[in-house]
Amino acid sequence: MSLLVVGSVALDTIETPFGRADDALGGSATYISTAASYLYAPVRVVGVVGGDFPRKDIEFLESRTIDLEGLQVVESGKTFRWGGRYHYDLNVRDTLYTQLNVFEAFNPVVPETYRKSRYVCLGNIDPVLQRRVIEQVVNPAMVVGDTMNFWIERKNKELRETLRRVNVFIINDAEARLISQEPNLIRAAKLIIEMGPQVVIIKKGEHGALLVTEKCIFAAPAYPLEDIHDPTGAGDAFAGGFAGWIAKTDDLSEDNLKRAVIYGSTLASFCVEKFSVEGLRELSYLQIQDRFREFRELSRFDEELSVV
Ligand code: AMP
Repeated sequence: MSLLVVGSVALDTIETPFGRADDALGGSATYISTAASYLYAPVRVVGVVGGDFPRKDIEFLESRTIDLEGLQVVESGKTFRWGGRYHYDLNVRDTLYTQLNVFEAFNPVVPETYRKSRYVCLGNIDPVLQRRVIEQVVNPAMVVGDTMNFWIERKNKELRETLRRVNVFIINDAEARLISQEPNLIRAAKLIIEMGPQVVIIKKGEHGALLVTEKCIFAAPAYPLEDIHDPTGAGDAFAGGFAGWIAKTDDLSEDNLKRAVIYGSTLASFCVEKFSVEGLRELSYLQIQDRFREFRELSRFDEELSVV
């Protein structure tokens, strides 16, 4: 099996009511590959950073056995930077700035050794770059894709083109409404299915996630956490957990897609407990399994046979 991830590798400055981090390791490819690495290794990454990207962050990714052959380093350029501020209600986030920097001239080259990757996860970057990556991969079994409002608003036509090549599209509720122009999430998912993907997963933050296909709807809860410090990357950690489980099991059945949603929710729950990638720095397989099982307990109940 093999899993290729493309996306941003970033330095994030994040403010939440509980603290602040400056130039912390972030980016969609970082969160996806780190989360996936707990289920499947080595994850292959295609991305770009500037000469200012800290050595310690490369060492961290390497320590997660992430294959960085496809990570270009533009010595003369600056790494992609993103700044975000969360409100007291952590579901509300303002983007303070997006500096594309080395991404402006980035031409993703999928190394020869990655071209037969069986699974591809397109993290949030310019949909044109996402498409260039898919075009270089020979016959993948499943393409998982993500995006955000930034691209839905600026590159809608290009995103629609990319969507035709995506099998599983993972987005949050606001993005689903924005792209489909439909307020009801089930109807929004069905409209997105008409755009190309066979599976649409809508993340609803602390309210869990919905998996919708033509045949089924599956609603997964979110793990009820009392301490959330930084929601950044939760969506990407979800995609990483999802894709990592699929790559590990190589099983595309409906039941296994549901399990993958729970692994996504599990990795996302660890991610938000600390700032930046700290929540994903040192997890054990046992911790992940325990939380996965807790999800089952969260919504298990017995049928009441006697009527009161
Ligand atoms: P999430 O919280 O899952 O939406 O992901 C946040 C991550 O996405 C941060 O680490 C950012 O560096 C990265 N990010 C923010 N905006 C963009 C963008 N326009 N393109 C690519 N990555 C982005």
